[in-house]
Amino acid sequence: MSRQSPSRLGTCPACAATITAVDVLVEYDVNGQPAVWADCPDCREVVHPV
Ligand SMILES: [Zn+2]
Repeated sequence: MSRQSPSRLGTCPACAATITAVDVLVEYDVNGQPAVWADCPDCREVVHPV
């Protein structure tokens, strides 16, 4: 089995840490645009990756 690295979604608006797919808490849709809430691995805030 090959190990896949999690895809990068963006960065934390609070501390600029990299947010990846494994940090995602909720995925939803805003006017047809996918959006997520993620748990920042660095500052532990729930953020919108940017
Ligand atoms: Zn952060």
